[in-house]
Amino acid sequence: MSSEKNLDFIRQIIADDLATGRHSSVVTRFPPEPNGYLHIGHAKSVTLNFGVAAEVPGGRCHLRFDDSNPETEDMEYVEAIQRDVRWLGYDWGEHLYFASDYFEDLYGFAVRLIEQGKAYVCSLSEEEIRRFRGTVTRAGTHSPYRERPVHENLDLFSRMRDGEFADGQHVLRAKIDMAAPNMKMRDPLLYRIRHAPHYRTGNDWCIYPMYDFVHPLSDAIEGITHSICTLEFENNRELYDWIIDNVPAPARPRQYEFARLNLNYTVMSKRKLVDLVEGGHAQGWDDPRLPTLAGLRRRGYTPEAIRNFCERIGVAKANSVVDVALLEHTVRDDLNAKTPRVMGVLDPLKVVIVNYPHGKEEELDAPYFPDDPPRMGYRKVPFARDLYIERTDFMEDPPAKFFRLAPGREVRLRWAYLVRCVDVIRNERDEVVEVHCEYDPATRGGDAPDGRRVKGTIHWVSAPHCIEAQVRLYDRLFTEADPEADSEGGLTGSLNPHSLDVVRARVEPGLAGALPGDRFQFERTGYFIADEKDHSPGKPVFNRIVALRDSWKKISAKG
Ligand code: ATP
Ligand code: MG
Repeated sequence: MSSEKNLDFIRQIIADDLATGRHSSVVTRFPPEPNGYLHIGHAKSVTLNFGVAAEVPGGRCHLRFDDSNPETEDMEYVEAIQRDVRWLGYDWGEHLYFASDYFEDLYGFAVRLIEQGKAYVCSLSEEEIRRFRGTVTRAGTHSPYRERPVHENLDLFSRMRDGEFADGQHVLRAKIDMAAPNMKMRDPLLYRIRHAPHYRTGNDWCIYPMYDFVHPLSDAIEGITHSICTLEFENNRELYDWIIDNVPAPARPRQYEFARLNLNYTVMSKRKLVDLVEGGHAQGWDDPRLPTLAGLRRRGYTPEAIRNFCERIGVAKANSVVDVALLEHTVRDDLNAKTPRVMGVLDPLKVVIVNYPHGKEEELDAPYFPDDPPRMGYRKVPFARDLYIERTDFMEDPPAKFFRLAPGREVRLRWAYLVRCVDVIRNERDEVVEVHCEYDPATRGGDAPDGRRVKGTIHWVSAPHCIEAQVRLYDRLFTEADPEADSEGGLTGSLNPHSLDVVRARVEPGLAGALPGDRFQFERTGYFIADEKDHSPGKPVFNRIVALRDSWKKISAKG
């Protein structure tokens, strides 16, 4: 790691620790709780933890499931999280851990605390414990069980483990300071009774350790050097240190907090994502509208784009909200360089080239990468008398600045000919159903030999050759930048009713060979991916990854 570079504060701390010899390398961990799918906020933590470890010789990053809460955790989530971290491009090697594997060790550490008079079994109810805790301005009150003798605590704790008591009857608490300014230090809970099977340990345990006890000790057991977490754990740090300092911990990890990623127009807490999925507002965890990594993957976002995004937003100590437009911009940047260009019409309007011979067909050469044709070469695009163009590319009564097709006006059909609109056919409801054009045979390929200029270039497909495809157009899931602001309406109050629009599109016939996961730019309409689940060559389904901004201007400027 070069110290000349502009390091973020985490990397600076690590560089200093290496320079002073406090550590000879770095061991980090990404510690998800397996109670939901990862979202793009987690990606920030993944890229940071795996990123810093990869930058230091001998560094490594563990994947640890922080699974001490039997009620909400599940193997499905463990598997999904591993898939998502791998997809992002990171590898934990053999360093896959589960906090539940440490339950016996943790129990031992708790017994040590009791023996030293630093923990006690408290028999107040949850409600009483809350009341006794005091407030930020008022000290708490000692529990009447605080002075229980050690032997009684040991006896009760072991009987808690043996299942003699009901949920909530007793808890184990650290004996610290009921007047501490930091509320977390007011005799925090270390263990509670939960008669619930755990997805990994089954019925082995009916007492489960609390996060604040599990986390520092799991870090210590694994020899973590830098335990990086989000800012809301800042107040937990004092307790983290207290736990480490008061048990014979095998290592001395330290906790550092960075600002979590917040994005507008979406929600990221797992609980809220669970609500959206279970409430039927999203079609599963991989719904392309969700900020889950599974959703973004299905949407067509690339891991590189997500990593680039995490790099762009950086690592800071102050919370902020990132505009989702920055994410979309990063995705466009990434796809722009990688995806071949093809043509697809999302909202087809029939065009008849009235002076083009009936039954005639031509194949025109169209480059996959117009800015760099040799890169992937050319494909043949069939041209015929009947075509489809985008309905929005025709206007009967256009304003002056409309450079696309209109009565009497000439446009370029991309890679094909210049055509001029000569007639408009309407149905009985007075809607335009067909546009008649004449083409100029001398303009094959799109250039006029007489040098006359047309401002507009539009995309098209041949009606007899094109294939029909289902195309899914996505918009933001919420209409409000901060969907959680409206406490009355709840989340569903600001759900965007138009977040998914499914259309029957017509795409160029070459796309019949697209495989699930293939990405394309449909010129002028956006980047698309053949859906991983629903697409098949016989039944094409494309998801719009992201729309193009200003793309039409770019193409028309060349004319
Ligand atoms: P959520 O609040 O969405 O339920 P969580 O913090 O409970 O998330 P964990 O599984 O505990 O989820 O998170 C694993 C790691 O990811 C933690 O270290 C946590 O700090 C980090 N993390 C979670 N959300 C974000 C975020 N929005 N930005 C950055 N890091 C995050
Ligand atoms: Mg958490």
